[in-house]
Amino acid sequence: MATPIPQRGAHFIRTARAVGKYARQSVHLQLRWNQVTSWLATYSVNMEERGYLAMNIERVELQRLHMPFKASFEASFGRMAKRDLVLVSVYSGDGHVGYGESTSMPYPLYNEETTETVWYMLEKFLIPKLLTADISAPEEVAELFAPIRRNNMAKAALEGAVWDLYCKQKGISLAAGLGGSKQKIDVGVSIGIEPTVDLLLKKVEGFINEGYKKIKVKVKPGFDVEPMRAIRKTFGPDVPLMADANSAYTLDHIDTLKELDEFNLIMIEQPLAHDDIIDHAKLQKELKTPICLDESIHTVEDARKAIELGSCGIINIKIGRVGGLTESKRIHDLCQKHNIPVWCGGMFETGVGRAHNIAITSLPNFTIPGDTSASNRYWVEDIVEPEVVLVEPGILAVPSEAGIGYALKPESVKKFLVHEQSYSKQSLAHVE
Ligand SMILES: [Mg+2]
Repeated sequence: MATPIPQRGAHFIRTARAVGKYARQSVHLQLRWNQVTSWLATYSVNMEERGYLAMNIERVELQRLHMPFKASFEASFGRMAKRDLVLVSVYSGDGHVGYGESTSMPYPLYNEETTETVWYMLEKFLIPKLLTADISAPEEVAELFAPIRRNNMAKAALEGAVWDLYCKQKGISLAAGLGGSKQKIDVGVSIGIEPTVDLLLKKVEGFINEGYKKIKVKVKPGFDVEPMRAIRKTFGPDVPLMADANSAYTLDHIDTLKELDEFNLIMIEQPLAHDDIIDHAKLQKELKTPICLDESIHTVEDARKAIELGSCGIINIKIGRVGGLTESKRIHDLCQKHNIPVWCGGMFETGVGRAHNIAITSLPNFTIPGDTSASNRYWVEDIVEPEVVLVEPGILAVPSEAGIGYALKPESVKKFLVHEQSYSKQSLAHVE
């Protein structure tokens, strides 16, 4: 039997109502969904602009390298024929890798660290902290590592690799990431204690001819006034000359140190104890030559106190000694505010560490030439390509490519490799 017309009408009306309700709900839901997606898009853009998106660090690799120096040299603890270092590689899920290196020595004679302690601190504490954190910017690494006291070279090796990785992810140079704008930097050389003044003069002559912008000579009691006088007498008053004492003096030597004033040195570096800022303040009052602090400065707080006390007129920033690029930048900014010029010291870095030094030196208050020389000053073969070369006498170019701007040469790394270990979130459980 056919459905009566009124019933068919009611059915039609019910269906039409249901369709209408569904359509209204769909439009409503669609609108809500559009709102949600647009909010998510804005939020993620904002988060990215503010640097809040996680870097997605998946794996850290440590490689201990023994790199032979071009020529062995005499250090305070004996002859040094090779550099013993830890190369750090940090890998992210998006296929990028950042590099850093430790600037520690085999013996705890510059600071308390050694290559062995750096490896231990990285494996036991720093890498687990990094891999279990959700880092979105390299500045957070310094905060993450802050509860762990000192061990700055271990911290700096890993933090430096994170900085490189971050800049590669963003497609900017490490120099730009740090806020540097110089495209070229002036560099000088450091000369160890030579057996005789004549040999020293020969070295100085060679480096002046190569156009280095600063000649740093190591001094100690008994090898100070005479070599400086000989350099000034032979090469004249315009050679940019400085002395580094590596804590070899005490206030008892004040008369000798005052004699150095007549040579118009750019500075005398760390004349007194490695952990002192009080006696340096007393000495600075007696000297015309600015004192530069190296070993005494480990943090921006150390720098603040030294500046307040008048312990120095210049600060040498070594990235490893102060725990990384973030702290280096803080010290730079503080010094700039107080008209204290800074420069970047060297620790026999491979091309990786050299690239980090070049990047930090691109900041504006690095007004004194640093110690970062070309790769071939120390190495027969560096582990980066291209090698670090002077683009003009005494001048290095600041790379504009993403990150440190130098690629790692895996075949060279392999040649110098002593031991390697990889750490991931999954493998952390296996590290005792
Ligand atoms: Mg020094």
